[in-house]
This record gives sequence, structure tokens and C-alpha cells, in this order.
Amino acid sequence: MKEVRVRFAPSPTGALHIGGVRTALYNFLLARQQKGKMILRIEDTDQNRYVPGAEDYIIQSLAWAGIKIDEGVVEGGPYAPYRQSERKPLYKQYAQQLLDTGHAYYAFDTEGELERMREQQKSAGSDQQQYSSATRMQMRNSLTLPPDEVNKLIDSGTPYVIRFKIPDNEEVHLNDLIRGEVVVHSSQLDDKVLMKSDGMPTYHLANVVDDYLMKISHVIRGEEWLPSAPLHVLLYRSFGWEQDMPQFAHLPLLLKPDGNGKLSKRDADRMGFPIFPLNWTDPKTGESSKGFRESGYLPEALLNFLVLLGWNPGTDQEIFTMEELIKLFSLERISKSGAKFDIHKAQWFNEQYLRSKSDAELAEFLLASLQKEGISCSHDKAVKICSIMKERISFPQHLWEHGIYFFRAPIQFEESVATKKWNADAIKVLTAYREAIEQSSQFDSTVAKAILEQVTSQLGIGIGKILQALRLSITGVGGGPDLMMIMEIIGKAEVMNRISYALENIKIKGG
Ligand code: GLU
Repeated sequence: MKEVRVRFAPSPTGALHIGGVRTALYNFLLARQQKGKMILRIEDTDQNRYVPGAEDYIIQSLAWAGIKIDEGVVEGGPYAPYRQSERKPLYKQYAQQLLDTGHAYYAFDTEGELERMREQQKSAGSDQQQYSSATRMQMRNSLTLPPDEVNKLIDSGTPYVIRFKIPDNEEVHLNDLIRGEVVVHSSQLDDKVLMKSDGMPTYHLANVVDDYLMKISHVIRGEEWLPSAPLHVLLYRSFGWEQDMPQFAHLPLLLKPDGNGKLSKRDADRMGFPIFPLNWTDPKTGESSKGFRESGYLPEALLNFLVLLGWNPGTDQEIFTMEELIKLFSLERISKSGAKFDIHKAQWFNEQYLRSKSDAELAEFLLASLQKEGISCSHDKAVKICSIMKERISFPQHLWEHGIYFFRAPIQFEESVATKKWNADAIKVLTAYREAIEQSSQFDSTVAKAILEQVTSQLGIGIGKILQALRLSITGVGGGPDLMMIMEIIGKAEVMNRISYALENIKIKGG
């Protein structure tokens, strides 16, 4: 059997869209499963759209996500170079082959001439205004001009492009692994430019030549490339490479959360979620976008979320290790219809992955946040905090953001809780509680609870009635993990100080 060789072939025209990460992931999973190779090819032949930094960004994004590359611009490999701009002479040679075999031709038309052709087609009522079998014989190209004139034009430096000559009147068949048989009539296709006047190949030529030379077995890419696939099939045929043509799999679109249309950066910005894996600043506009990484998504959670956007395992299982995915993945289980991008689901996966981490692992996140804040904290204390915060966080930064009271005494108190729960009973209990704690030689969560039970029963006030007020005095807010554990972690002296401060500063509302 043919070795499985797949490629992810992004163009460095900006940040990598999250859909690109999914494409890379599916390629990677197939490569690993079939003990094949995962190739990263940089398709940078469009000089006008080149964005500095984008290639590096793509490489870093894949590395962060844990999508490992076997052959590519960094790794090298037997088919190097893997950056198309460094393969220019190759494309020229293959374009020449198509010219020699009559599958391609030179075209000298100026912008104005092309525009005129489109206008004429439009006024003649044609639904297509393309350079194609219907129009090519009226244009200035090597099919219509005498050979010596063609040579003269080329020798005198007249700008030209090389176009592919789409065969007349035939059906082009393509067997897509996801969509089944796709049939397009050649009259629907135009004579695409293969080589531009700047001597650079277009995407179509470079992509097909490289897939062939790099012995790609499967082309797994986004649905937006499906309309190009029949042209690619024709190119393979014209080169005489039909036997080596890769299998195609065009992935379903990622849709907006409501399922209405393709997910765009604008949607993500509007709804306040990231669409790029890492932070990105557009070097042209200066516009900055926050990445999934910087928003606190764990790479393994993001991949688990992404893999299910279009693929399903055929069971109810939702959480998968990378090993499981490599085992279970199959192109046959990818659906044709678009997948809704539900950021809440992504967050849910993040929560699940955070919960599956050990307290010590989570402590590293907390300690990193604390370091940024210039707060020192023992490893043991951080571990303890994580053990009680774990179930309540969606992102690692919540450990600090939602647990700030472990390190800083509250100076403000949640208004709505104070209004409802700060009353004469609360003041009575808290005053007595503080005193009893002071008397106690020991202090931990069990002691804190026992003393509270004792004090409340002595005063004849139910714990439930004052617990929120106690929480407010310790944390400043109405919700959080086990209060007794919070008190144990911050310690006796701090508990006493905070209760004193609250008693002095929180006023009874409406009383
Ligand atoms: N360079 C194309 C892109 O940017 C690659 C498409 C393909 O995989 O053939 O997506």
C-alpha cells in the first residue's frame, strides 16, 4: 500500500484561523494513525498577500497545539524546500511541460482587454464572463496569434501569463472521500492562470506540482477548495500523473454559533471569543486579536473541541486523549454538513481538562499568575487553593481572578449580599466568633466549623442565617468554595483581621 503522506499547506497571509487548526489536526491524526508523514508546506507564491510574521505564527500555533510536523520548513525532509517561494524554477519547468504538450498557452491580454471581454460577454447575455473555451479564441494568446508573433512578444518583454487550456465539453469526475462523486462540466471551468506575469506560479500550479512531487496521498483541506478540485484533477491528467493523484477530502465549513453562514473573525469579535490560536497583531493595520492560548484554553481541550466539529466517533464519548483520537479517527466519519462553532462547548471542554489535572499541576498556573502580580506564595498553599477552586474555574487565570481573596483582604463588599445578609444577628455572631477564634489555640477548617457551631448555638441563631455574612467578611463576595477551607488557608490572624474590618466597615442597609 502507498505510504500515507498528508500535508497542511497554509498561505502566510495572516494569522492562522481556528478552522486551519482543525484542518491540520485531521491531517495529523490520519498521518499518525497510518504511520505516515505529516508535512507542513508554506504556500507563499502570492507576493501581494504575503504578511511578515505569518509563517512563524503558523509554526508556533501548530507547536502549541501539539500538532507535530514530520517534514517542513523547520524540520527539512527528503522533498525540501517546503516553502514554495524557494521552488520557483520547478514550477517554470512544469508550466513549460504543459505548454509543450498543448495543455497550456501564453496569454498577452492587458487588463483593459480582459475588461472589454467581460463587458462583451455580459451584454451578450452570457452568465459567465470568463477566459474560457467560449472566449479564448477571441483573445490575444498563443492559440490565436501566429507563432513568430508570439515569440516576438515574449522576446520583447511583453508581459504575459500562462493559462491552462480547459478541455472542451467533457465531464470532470472527482471522488471525494467525504462528499462522494463530484461531477463538473468543463464548460463551467475557466482557463485559470498557472504562471503570473511576475514569473510566480499561481496556487493551482504550485499546489498540484508539489502534491505530486512530495508524494502526497491524501489532500485534506477546507470546503472552500472544492471548486478548485476539478481543475486540479485536469492538471494531474494533463501532466500524465493520474495514477499518482492523491485522494481528496474536503472538510465541512465551520459555521457561526447559530448555524447561519460561515464563521468569520467579525462574528468572533462581536461575540467576544477568539478565532486565532495565539495572540496576533496584524502588521499592516496594527489591529490586535487575542488568541485561544492567551484566553486560557488548554491546547488539548481546544483540539478535543475541534476534532468533533465535523467528525464524530459514532459513540457518545466526548473526551478523548490524543492516543484515542489517533486510533479512532476516520475520514469516513466526517460529515458533509457544516459544524456550528459553539464557544460554550469549547469552554466546557476546557473545564473538563482543567478538572482532570492534579492540584499540583494547577498550582503551576496559579503560581505563574501570582508571580506576575508580584505575590509570593508557597507551593503547598497554592496546591491547597487549587484543590478547592478546581471545580469552579473555566480557565487557569480564574484561579487568581476568582481567588484573589486568598491573597488580598477585601476592602469592598458585594453590595447585594451586604443588603440581604448583613444584619444585627450577623454582627452579633461575627463579633462572638472572632473572639472565640482568638481564644482557640488551634485553627483549621474543622476547628473553624466547630467554633462556628458552638457560637451560633449559644446565641440561638441558625448558621444558615449568618453564613453568607461571614463569607462576605472573609472574601468580599457571596459565592466561592468551602468557606471553612478558605479560612484554614488564609489562617487565624487573617481571619480575625478580616472580621474586624468587616464589622467596622459594613453598614446595615435599610436598617
Ligand atoms: N494554500 C492553500 C490555503 O491557504 C492550501 C489549500 C490546499 O490545501 O490545497 O489554504
